[in-house]
Amino acid sequence: MTDLTKLTISAALDGMAAGDFSARELTAAHITAMEAANVLNAFITKTPEIAVEAATASDSRRAKGETRKIDGIPLAIKDLFCTKDVLTTAASHILDGFVPKYESTVSSNLWASGAVMLGKTNLDEFAMGSSNETSYYGEVINPWRREGSDSPLVPGGSSGGSASAVASFSAMAAIGTDTGGSIRQPASFTGIVGMKPTYGRCSRWGVVAFASSLDQAGPMTRTVRDAAIMLEAMAGFDPKDSTSVDMPVPDFEAALSGDIRGLKVGIPAEYRLDGMSPEVQALWDQGIDWMKAAGAEIIDISLPHTKYALPAYYIIAPAEASSNLARYDGVRFGLRVEGDDLDDMYARTRAEGFGAEVQRRLLIGTYALSAGYYDAYYLKAQKVRSRIADDFKQAYQKVDVILTPTAPSPAFGFGEKGDDPLAMYLNDVFTGPASLAGLPGISVPAGLSSDGLPLGLQLLGKPFDEETVFRAAGVLENAAAFTATPNDWWRG
Ligand code: GLN
Repeated sequence: MTDLTKLTISAALDGMAAGDFSARELTAAHITAMEAANVLNAFITKTPEIAVEAATASDSRRAKGETRKIDGIPLAIKDLFCTKDVLTTAASHILDGFVPKYESTVSSNLWASGAVMLGKTNLDEFAMGSSNETSYYGEVINPWRREGSDSPLVPGGSSGGSASAVASFSAMAAIGTDTGGSIRQPASFTGIVGMKPTYGRCSRWGVVAFASSLDQAGPMTRTVRDAAIMLEAMAGFDPKDSTSVDMPVPDFEAALSGDIRGLKVGIPAEYRLDGMSPEVQALWDQGIDWMKAAGAEIIDISLPHTKYALPAYYIIAPAEASSNLARYDGVRFGLRVEGDDLDDMYARTRAEGFGAEVQRRLLIGTYALSAGYYDAYYLKAQKVRSRIADDFKQAYQKVDVILTPTAPSPAFGFGEKGDDPLAMYLNDVFTGPASLAGLPGISVPAGLSSDGLPLGLQLLGKPFDEETVFRAAGVLENAAAFTATPNDWWRG
């Protein structure tokens, strides 16, 4: 039998429909692959028993002709989504032993579509980071290595466990969350597809909150078609999330017509950064040529407030985090470190429970929201955010999608940026602005760096126009014909 872990979701659905293999066989192959990839540390919790049970149920539905949309597809779930009766950690010590009594809406939608859970993936603590170096459960390792080198590289972040699981063929697909780039940047670092839908497309209910006005769930897959299939299963209005938007979920897969003739593709001048890696620049130029050759019209655009996006993001996200994370006080969830009195217990619990990066963000956020500084920082950042959204609105009067690189560099080594928060924050330079504006974006693997590491290109779209984003991404994917995979050194 062919290696079932190498199939795409769409091929696996066809294979099960044709009776070539069962959901149980597909799931068993992935459980074996997941176990063999232990060294990558992509999973915090593995749930093989739950997987086998779900796959068995899937096979019996299929036998009765009651097959659902993604019946029998084994998935990995970022450990930021609450899963009923399964440990949920946000990769933080402070959530020690937290077993939710409820299931996030996005993951319940997936189970209702027949999917199978393999386990919960590692991440940067509370999704704060770009490298998976801040997890309480240890670093995640990228299955890719530089050519001729065996030093480990980061998988990106914060959805690095999900990215590593998909890139190492341990899961057919995964879900992640993206606040400033956490789906798209790790997708770029691991040679997979990562899609952040429009803010409001997927429910945030049951997702551990980082920055509520930015957080959005999305799929991480090996092809654009698989991302379309996954998003359709994840998305939809949810009365339990007041920011979820009541709009029909289109048939995203049907949008993949392969035809972008006449599509207007914007190229933002401000994304040509001084000091940007020449290979990233060259790949972007190549992407422009691919779109042109496919019949798109290339239009130069300006997003003048781009340079203020990162400073605004690193005020707004920590401000919202400082308020969201106030709930971890040793009383209701997870870790509790006793103290002399109540205040002392709070202080000890939070000092021990949160790692250094989370504490840094809580300090920045609390400062930015404090009396006297609120107007100078938080309010100012919100004004900048409106300007950034206006820039995109203007641009979208002239173009249908925007093409940019996903990240300024390929995957880097451990410790290379860990000591310098500002260098780390630069990872979000191309992804952060669209997050602030709430727009959909996708990263498509498009080429290799000179040392053999994957590089992604990003397509951004109009609000709730994921269909056009998918259509353009499908064409980009075809043109790039990215078929490279990491050599599987991690399998023992
Ligand atoms: N790297 C960004 C941050 O650290 C984005 C994280 C995210 O999207 N969750 O905040």
